[in-house]
Amino acid sequence: MKRQIAILGSTGSIGTQALDVIRRHPDKLGVYALTANNQVDLLIQQAREFNPEVVVIANEAKYPALKEALANLPIKVWAGAEAIAQVVSIEEVDMVLTAMVGYAGLQPTIAAIKTGKAIALANKETLVIAGELIKKLALEHKAAIIPVDSEHSAIFQCLAGEGNNDINKILLTASGGPFRTFTKEQLCHVTAKEALKHPNWSMGAKVTIDSASMINKGFEMIEAKWLFGVQPQQIQVLVHPQSIVHSMVQFEDMSVKAQLGVPDMRLPIQYALNYPERLHSDFQAIDWHTFSSLTFEEPDMEKFRNLGFAFEAISKGGNMPCILNAANEIVVAAFLEDRIGFLQMSDVIEKMMQSIPFIASPTYDDLIETDKITRLRVMSYEL
Ligand code: MG
Repeated sequence: MKRQIAILGSTGSIGTQALDVIRRHPDKLGVYALTANNQVDLLIQQAREFNPEVVVIANEAKYPALKEALANLPIKVWAGAEAIAQVVSIEEVDMVLTAMVGYAGLQPTIAAIKTGKAIALANKETLVIAGELIKKLALEHKAAIIPVDSEHSAIFQCLAGEGNNDINKILLTASGGPFRTFTKEQLCHVTAKEALKHPNWSMGAKVTIDSASMINKGFEMIEAKWLFGVQPQQIQVLVHPQSIVHSMVQFEDMSVKAQLGVPDMRLPIQYALNYPERLHSDFQAIDWHTFSSLTFEEPDMEKFRNLGFAFEAISKGGNMPCILNAANEIVVAAFLEDRIGFLQMSDVIEKMMQSIPFIASPTYDDLIETDKITRLRVMSYEL
């Protein structure tokens, strides 16, 4: 029996790499549904190749083009945000890969969890914004969450077979991004174009900028807290420029387990899609002559202030991580359009965390509202 997968966000970086994994394992993995936000041409091409039961385009204006292009195929064509929530509840879908970018992933992920299906979670912002709520819902609906983020996949793999053994510490590795060795002065002048050149990983634009500013690592700390039930003090960020050790777990006996591999997102994606069984791959193996030395260093919190903000947000809890995320989404969009400087992004995030009203125990509606007012406030900052 093939595992039938619904890919939410199939035209993005994770989505296209997931399809590459599925293409290599047609006997094990099937595409039941594909959804995309805007990129209708690529969605059409994917639908023609993988022949899913359903495709959804979130942007309804693109529906006619999609419908017409697939008219001669037995594929259901739907449109709109509601349709995405509908797709995940189709009985034949065994697993939902949440690969949309940012806040947009929240609602569909919640809908998927409520069906009790296995979730391969690639949309980390969901856990950043609403970790507590998501965890509660997943327990209630018995939905397994399998991380796709490479660090969390590594931790998840280190925990396999450990039963109830307590985690003493998570060692979350970070490449340090393209500006690891830059001075603060140099950071003042970096452009989006430079930030988009990640030294090791091939990823979408948003996460690549997040990675350069290290807020991505901050988000991953929050993600780790919710996925693995650890306290913020139990997470240590280690800068590891080679990106070979994808993260480590230290147990209470001080034994440390690590998961290693060449930086290729298809590896954690494949592990999640066919979990718990590993599949053969012809991905590149580590060449120990090239990587004869693996190095680890402390992150520079003075230069990369976002890490400190994330630590503050995770410690305060409530709607603070939601404020952090919303402010970041707007400043990253502004940075990508050269409307704001690299270091200014942190300044705006800090201001938002200080000025948006704090709610200690937010409801879902409170989070929606927090997201909205934070975005409006940031946009009023003449960005
Ligand atoms: Mg990651």
